[in-house]
Amino acid sequence: MKINSSHSIIIISNNLQKDLQTLIRQLTAPSDKIFIIVDENTRTKCLPIIKKKIKNANIIEIKSGEVNKSIDTVINIWNYLINNRADRKSLIINLGGGMICDIGGFAASTFKRGINFINIPTTLLAQVDAAIGGKAGINFNQLKNEIGFFNFPEAILINTLFLKTLDKNNLISGFAEIIKHSLIHSKKYWDEIKQTYNDGFHPPKDEKLKKIISRSIEIKNHFVQNDFKENNIRKALNFGHTIGHSFESLSLIKNKPVLHGEAVACGMVCEAFLSYKKLGLSYEQLTEISNFIIKVYGKYSFTSYDYNKLFELIEHDKKQENKHETIGINFTLISEIGKAEINHYCKKQEIFEAFDYYIEI
Ligand code: NAD
Repeated sequence: MKINSSHSIIIISNNLQKDLQTLIRQLTAPSDKIFIIVDENTRTKCLPIIKKKIKNANIIEIKSGEVNKSIDTVINIWNYLINNRADRKSLIINLGGGMICDIGGFAASTFKRGINFINIPTTLLAQVDAAIGGKAGINFNQLKNEIGFFNFPEAILINTLFLKTLDKNNLISGFAEIIKHSLIHSKKYWDEIKQTYNDGFHPPKDEKLKKIISRSIEIKNHFVQNDFKENNIRKALNFGHTIGHSFESLSLIKNKPVLHGEAVACGMVCEAFLSYKKLGLSYEQLTEISNFIIKVYGKYSFTSYDYNKLFELIEHDKKQENKHETIGINFTLISEIGKAEINHYCKKQEIFEAFDYYIEI
């Protein structure tokens, strides 16, 4: 199945090897070099699934983990490419989760002013979110995605076969972005995904999971398609992320990293509270959202001593907008389940109330 996108070919593949071969034929000549970026986990668990069909590919293994989404790792990738004579016609295949897609996209887009790359996302989070939408970046000075840009892969190839080896925490982390897609776009989808969760995930042969992955990609694509630089409607995808990123950064600083989706899940509860306060999201829907998210993720532990640091991190994230000092921080909120509204400004005190709400529920 192909999803229409003007930026990349997006294929939800039932025949991975055949689709990959076709893509490689389209994107390279027989003499062109292919480089596959993996980490130690995707090397053992995912590479064997595609390797047979890509003869003589060079494998670049980097260390997994958010701390390694760094400029040092990019330098290692650049060095490997130079030492192995990559040129402008070479193709990079990013085989991994969001970390590999982000850093691989960054390395490919900067090497020789940019060479072609394909994302083959192997986590649920990367399949429904990180691999789609053309954002590439790395962390810098303990700040998430501080350095990066927009550049689309030639293609994104999705297959749920990879999810078979993914641990439960990472599967659930990816589910946070699916929850977000439903909250910003469709009440019907929200009801469906709650049901899918209650039935349990059974990848890779789970038809319901395949269906929600396709639906989520369509929703993400809908927001990216007409606003890829995020000046307008793409901001809807930030729901849960403004506060979520601050939890993620705080956890990095405390040296107790949490998964991206776990942080976004807490962020969605806090931002649902802001939606209740500022946009008239009903108390019933606020409770429904909070209860479901806490049932799935449990609670992130922080105290009022962390509030100022969290706010500082949010301010840093939003500095480029330069308006927060007077009117507050810019949020995407929801007026009801399935309906996002961008550009709502919240003050420090309101954000602290959202933290209070989260701690007290
Ligand atoms: P990840 O890439 O760190 O992967 C999580 C873990 O799962 C790693 O240890 C990895 O080795 C392992 N793994 C990957 N695939 C596996 C498989 N099939 N079987 C077994 N293990 C496997 O984490 P993630 O949640 O996929 O991505 C998080 C990253 O994505 C963050 O860096 C975040 O900033 C980024 N992100 C980017 C965007 C974007 O638009 N570019 C959007 C959302 C998130």
